[in-house]
Amino acid sequence: MPIVHPGILEVRALGLNFFVLRDDKGLYVIDGGFIGGWRLFQHALRQEGWQDEPVRGVIVTHGHLDHILNVSHLAKAYGAWIAAPRLDADHYAGRPKYSGHSRVTGWLEAVGRVTLAYHKFKPDHWLDDGDRLEIFSGVQAVHLPGHTRGHMGFWWEEQGILFTGDLFVSYRDQARLPLNIFNIDSEQNVRSIQTALAINPRGVLPNHGNLASPEEHLCRLKKLFERLSDH
Ligand SMILES: [Zn+2]
Repeated sequence: MPIVHPGILEVRALGLNFFVLRDDKGLYVIDGGFIGGWRLFQHALRQEGWQDEPVRGVIVTHGHLDHILNVSHLAKAYGAWIAAPRLDADHYAGRPKYSGHSRVTGWLEAVGRVTLAYHKFKPDHWLDDGDRLEIFSGVQAVHLPGHTRGHMGFWWEEQGILFTGDLFVSYRDQARLPLNIFNIDSEQNVRSIQTALAINPRGVLPNHGNLASPEEHLCRLKKLFERLSDH
């Protein structure tokens, strides 16, 4: 599993990846993966020699099942806190509300919660826009709604890195919007891309993408936004 930036380990799985951050106090997980995520997480820590580091926190970008399936288990196993967007509270409780196209996601998740034995959780820290997490030199929660109501990015200002969750997907040299059925409001999601770019990051890290540097993902995102703005 690759280090994509000093202090950031990317745990890769089919169709999805998540991140482990390491500062001088320990480790923090962003999201925690989907099916097999627990095993991949353990494997990644051993490969990096991080297995004896304390896992202090689990940070959630949004409430979709492929991002929160392992959150409860991770937090309990390590005694870690959970920080998650307040506006996706119904997702963590296992009762997400979907409307329009995204009702399809609701049906898929309802099946997934049962077959994959989802465990609900209550975050220790409810995140609102602008909240600051005391990890590294400070990481700020940035509300980027549209994919879900509460969807958030996390801005590590010192390094110019923005974790973008599912704001966009980034495969085969190209950024794309998440499929409509996965978004609560696709137009709002486009406005959130504008918000993200206005922060002027040096690089971005999406949860669905092939292995590329944060700078490369940013380059793709900028091109996507130009294409969207042309229409
Ligand atoms: Zn999602």
